Amino acid sequence: MPRTDALLADPRVAAAADRLGRELVKAVVTAVQQRVRAGEVPPVDAADTVVAALPTSAASLHRVLNATGVLVHTNLGRAPWSAAAVEAVVAASGTTDVELDLATGRRGPRGEGAIQALLAAVPAAEAAIVVNNCAAALALVATCLGGELVVARGELVEIGDGFRIPDLLESTGARLREVGTTNRVALADYTAAVGPGTGAVLKIHPSNFVVRGFTRSVEVAELAGVGVPVVADVGSGLLRPHPALPDEPDLQTTLAAGADLVLCSGDKLLGGPQAGLVLGRADLVQRLRRHPLYRALRVDKTTLAALEATLRGPVPPVRRMLEATVAELRTRAEAVVAALGGDAQVVDAGARVGGGGAPEFELPSVAVSVPADLAEPLRRGTPPVVGYLAEGRTLLDLRSLDPADDEALVGAVRACR
Ligand SMILES: *Cc1c(COP(=O)(O)O)cnc(C)c1O
Repeated sequence: MPRTDALLADPRVAAAADRLGRELVKAVVTAVQQRVRAGEVPPVDAADTVVAALPTSAASLHRVLNATGVLVHTNLGRAPWSAAAVEAVVAASGTTDVELDLATGRRGPRGEGAIQALLAAVPAAEAAIVVNNCAAALALVATCLGGELVVARGELVEIGDGFRIPDLLESTGARLREVGTTNRVALADYTAAVGPGTGAVLKIHPSNFVVRGFTRSVEVAELAGVGVPVVADVGSGLLRPHPALPDEPDLQTTLAAGADLVLCSGDKLLGGPQAGLVLGRADLVQRLRRHPLYRALRVDKTTLAALEATLRGPVPPVRRMLEATVAELRTRAEAVVAALGGDAQVVDAGARVGGGGAPEFELPSVAVSVPADLAEPLRRGTPPVVGYLAEGRTLLDLRSLDPADDEALVGAVRACR
């Protein structure tokens, strides 16, 4: 039986222990020793088996190539960050001046750079704060402005994994006053419901479903006169209108239409880190910032750094994916297919925004089609590739994949054949 110290002294194992931590590496050594004891690994191969079994990083999350055609995929961590955001996070991850004014040596406002970047991007907002995610923003607003929240019945959305916005709102102690029916609500429904106990009218963008047919909803502009704050959860995080997504609400337009506060996620179409952004009237934002719950929901230095770099830096990957032309995607797919040869083919495909945005909207796309039985080995490969099955083939959509990863995609498919 190879001894633990002997295995740990192997230069390759020792180097891994420096990088990954001794305990993690020791656990791998122990597991291999058990396999030796069970007769599965010959003693002479123990060191090599340990080296092969060492993880590549101390964390268990892997880089995954997203070939699903869903640009913002919640199961794949939503928005991939720009290089500028990654760089900003590396710089901020040590000790940093997140709450210190280096010029005066005094305590400074936390995350002021990210706030100013948000206000520059959305000029209709007087003030902004950043919390952990959009659900946290809703919880903070409900806690701070509730009493009674007036909301259309057709906007009481389940956002995914069994989480429902009405349950979240009520968990804060706020009361919901539902107005209208599943398919229709009118301004008169809102005005009849607003009273002395009303904290706000809440408008929630139905970002993951569509109601069609005999429907009616009330625009923010019409609600602006009802006499209580109008809070709009636009979800997707589009800062301004985008020509590729004509029906998706954006922060600037919604505020300009008369919303007092708008809420959205940072890691959907904005293309940045997980965050909940609240923008709008200065007095309301100040109330949220002063509420004790804000202290429990605020974000860390790295989120602030990534958000600011996403807003001020080069166009983030999600927007480049959104704006890629079909011709560009086809050129990439042809290059991938040429490199792969065999039975790989270029096919037309339909991509989606995903992550709660433009639910029925299909973005024309191009995919590389490979045999269906490659789906599983691709998913289990290094790096893992996630595509989707359609008509008996595995499709690898290129709109959701960074062009810089095309080569890695070729390598991953080759490794599975
Ligand atoms: C996605 C979404 C949420 C939840 O946002 P998180 O940032 O994931 O908490 C809330 N409301 C709407 C309308 C959404 O689209």
